[in-house]
Amino acid sequence: MDFEETEEQKMIADTSREIAGEFGPDYWLEKEEEGEFGQECWDTLVKNNFTGILVPEDYEGEGMGMLEFSIAVDELASMGCAAGWYLGINAIFGVTPVKKFGTEEQKEKYLPKLAKGMEACMALTEPDSGSNTLNTKTLAVKEGDEYVINGQKMFISHADRANLMLLITRTTPREKAERKTSGITLFLVDLPDKSVTCESIPKHAMNYSHTCSVFIDDLRVPEDAVVGEVDEGWWAATEVLNPERMWGASLGCGLGTCALNYAIDYAKKRNVFGDPIGSYQGIQLPIANAWTKIQAARLLTRKGAYLHDKGEFYLDVANAAKHVATDAATDACWTAVQTFGGYGFAKEQHVERWWREVQLMRLAPITGQLELALIGQHILGLPKSFRTV
Ligand SMILES: Cc1cc2nc3c(=O)[nH]c(=O)nc-3n(C[C@H](O)[C@H](O)[C@H](O)COP(=O)(O)OP(=O)(O)OC[C@H]3O[C@@H](n4cnc5c(N)ncnc54)[C@H](O)[C@@H]3O)c2cc1C
Repeated sequence: MDFEETEEQKMIADTSREIAGEFGPDYWLEKEEEGEFGQECWDTLVKNNFTGILVPEDYEGEGMGMLEFSIAVDELASMGCAAGWYLGINAIFGVTPVKKFGTEEQKEKYLPKLAKGMEACMALTEPDSGSNTLNTKTLAVKEGDEYVINGQKMFISHADRANLMLLITRTTPREKAERKTSGITLFLVDLPDKSVTCESIPKHAMNYSHTCSVFIDDLRVPEDAVVGEVDEGWWAATEVLNPERMWGASLGCGLGTCALNYAIDYAKKRNVFGDPIGSYQGIQLPIANAWTKIQAARLLTRKGAYLHDKGEFYLDVANAAKHVATDAATDACWTAVQTFGGYGFAKEQHVERWWREVQLMRLAPITGQLELALIGQHILGLPKSFRTV
């Protein structure tokens, strides 16, 4: 693994910082308060081809990899620009499954549009199957050359605005499936569709992005809407879920860096007992400690991205990177709130918002416990800590 960034990667980092300079914390504070999508920032990312980073050149994209994507997300977040969240929803939920498992027709239909900013979403989580994905109940039944789909999904980010939904269903109910991992099928669904309705869920943070309950009632899709193999979609889904962890880890490294930079700056300037508060060990050491953790998390995240791009096994690193990045970012955001004292509670200083935002990383796309359970069970060979049947 080469630690030197390529010219292309440096350019992505520079452009990310330029965009983040234009759409910084004040912009996102306003969007959060108004519950409004950051359209101007999204349009700027599209104009700069950020939405095409993971799209192959043959389909009008930039043909880059996870490393470049991770750098973009990290750099944007490092300067308080939340749009790395939008980028991931588009690239990981939209581009990744089509690029990896799409037919030629599906690639031609979707990839150029996704590169140009068509929005996507992924409907996996259900009210009764959160961490236990194999419990998916949404059912797709074959009728002639169509599938009829019914079910309910929960916490689906951008379902209210996406034009493409990666929909995870069962084509064989779990109790009838040969193996617990068989019977899952993935569909590419064009939205809007009158059979798919959503309700935005009022939530704790990140209200510049709506997360929805989704109701699917007799949705009819042609059989060529299946992406990957019928009944064997579980393996395709994992090829989306592991990149999702790399995206989460990159967001964590960036968000932690951003909060910490605010804390460092404040600790140098704030003077209450005659010295800058950054000279007190109670302030200085937690900042240095959180900084150290972020550096380690970033290295692991880059390693995961590197392995992903080489097509090597990286499940272990993806989960470990997401876990340590969440831990580092949580530490950094809390340290920032503490450093700001009472001002850390004031919305205009931003750090309270980042503290709220970082909580999501502990819960989604996979919870901290499940990251560790996966490592324990699948990497370290420890006995199962949870039942999957
Ligand atoms: C803002 C937001 C956006 C989201 N966006 C999307 C999206 O776009 N698409 C999508 O499909 N989903 C999305 N999600 C859903 C998210 O991925 C799930 O919330 C997450 O996977 C956890 O599932 P759950 O909430 O049902 O928790 P549960 O699975 O019910 O878990 C509850 C608690 O029990 C713990 N637990 C469960 N099983 C075990 C075990 N065996 N061992 C130890 N601990 C265990 C969990 O770690 C957790 O702490 C989003 C969620 C949020 C909050």
